[in-house]
Amino acid sequence: MDTNSRSAAIAALRANDREIVLLSHSAALLSWDQETCMPRKAIDERSAQLSLLQGLIHERTVARRNGRLLEELGCSDENPRGDGGLPTDDRAFLRQYQRRYRRATRLPRDLVVKLAEKTSRSQAVWAEARAADDFRAFAPHLGELVELLLEVSDRIGYPQHPYDALLDEYEPFMLTSHVDRVFSELRADLVPLVEAIGRAPHVDNSMLRREFPVQQQAAFGTAVMQALGYELDRGRLDVSAHPFTTTLGADDVRITTRYSPRFFNSAVFGIIHEVGHALYELNIAEKYRGSLLAEGTSLGIHESQSRMWENMVGRSREFWHHFYPKLTARFPDSLGDVDLETFYRAINAVRPSLIRVEADEVSYGLHIILRFELEKALVSRSIKVADLPEVWRATSRELLGVEPQTDAEGVLQDIHWSMGAIGYFPTYALGNLYAAQFMRTIEADLPSLWSDVRDGEFGPLLGWLRGHIHSHGRTRTAAELCNDITGTDLSAAPFVAYLQTKYGDIYGVR
Ligand code: ZN
Repeated sequence: MDTNSRSAAIAALRANDREIVLLSHSAALLSWDQETCMPRKAIDERSAQLSLLQGLIHERTVARRNGRLLEELGCSDENPRGDGGLPTDDRAFLRQYQRRYRRATRLPRDLVVKLAEKTSRSQAVWAEARAADDFRAFAPHLGELVELLLEVSDRIGYPQHPYDALLDEYEPFMLTSHVDRVFSELRADLVPLVEAIGRAPHVDNSMLRREFPVQQQAAFGTAVMQALGYELDRGRLDVSAHPFTTTLGADDVRITTRYSPRFFNSAVFGIIHEVGHALYELNIAEKYRGSLLAEGTSLGIHESQSRMWENMVGRSREFWHHFYPKLTARFPDSLGDVDLETFYRAINAVRPSLIRVEADEVSYGLHIILRFELEKALVSRSIKVADLPEVWRATSRELLGVEPQTDAEGVLQDIHWSMGAIGYFPTYALGNLYAAQFMRTIEADLPSLWSDVRDGEFGPLLGWLRGHIHSHGRTRTAAELCNDITGTDLSAAPFVAYLQTKYGDIYGVR
């Protein structure tokens, strides 16, 4: 293929991609509206609008012409980036384009429709089953979903384990065997750490459940997010039942939170978390704007950004050295009698609990390992859906030392499986691991990092993240980023060392 026709082929794929991105951002705007301000009764028309857009996106994604162009450019499963002579950015574009095309075209239409129907039905059944603590009502639906997902996995293909194809949806290019390796390292060190903390004297965090008027929380949260570098002329903060970040364009990345008037942590740490996601999407290089490269490269890397800001920065002594006087000024009645050190220990209190979304930074990973083990066992058919409640209880006892008395607070607690999102959970824990591994390089590159944080200066950290992670968008995979930045593959060791130091100090354990 000569240079002119190669350029024409790339231009055609880029024009097609641009339309897909515009349609996706339009759908995201409709969804954002639905979650934040849409009148309740508008749901039917909204569902029709969204399904029309999804249909248009699908048509453009699987168009035969795209396949022909990819082939002409030399793209294949073995060589997704196409001809070696193409410019680097084009090859990065082709790799992601080819991946999307391959995943979409390998699934027959009736399988996609069946899966969509099954998940929307299952979510309703799950909600009722959880409310009634009735796993048997949900079990047959989950069984059918697992069968459909196994078919998805077979159609897409996988290198080693059927779980690979499901994981790849959320953590592209990562293999189950790698997750296995890092999670077993993590498990070996976390279980004894959680036990040791459990034997240490409790940290009092009752003051976090005093009165925190919502307006004051919103004002404080807004001041924090602006200090971190989230600009309100390129984003906004709204309220929704489940907090999220959504990208509607290169200069429009929005976040939401929820306020609890009698619990401090949810809104402020939630805002810092979502700001971490938003800063990633807002700082992708100009040249990738409006294309499929202008997104976070994987959910694990995305979570590394949100969790670095929320936990490593936002729950540090240095961060609160700067913000605590401002916080007590807003909440003199609730925090006036609490000193900085007491507050710091309270926001880092560890208490193994049954519920994942309420878990602390230390035990969180164990909740994820529990789900990962069960998902893998389901997908490799080594356990049956009917056995899940019992296996859940036993594994929870082994990992966390606590056992749910009901399925509602055990196997039924998360919405993910009812949505067919098997393969999603690992990304939450991978985020913590990536964050800690990146932090080692950051601390070496920025010796004044923590004194900057103490002074309320977040520009150096954001600048580093922009240069090394954000700007690259999806041109590098998670594994490539990790190797470029840290010189090695992902491992659990840096995260474990971070926890041992931080919580060893708070709880006097090693
Ligand atoms: Zn997140």
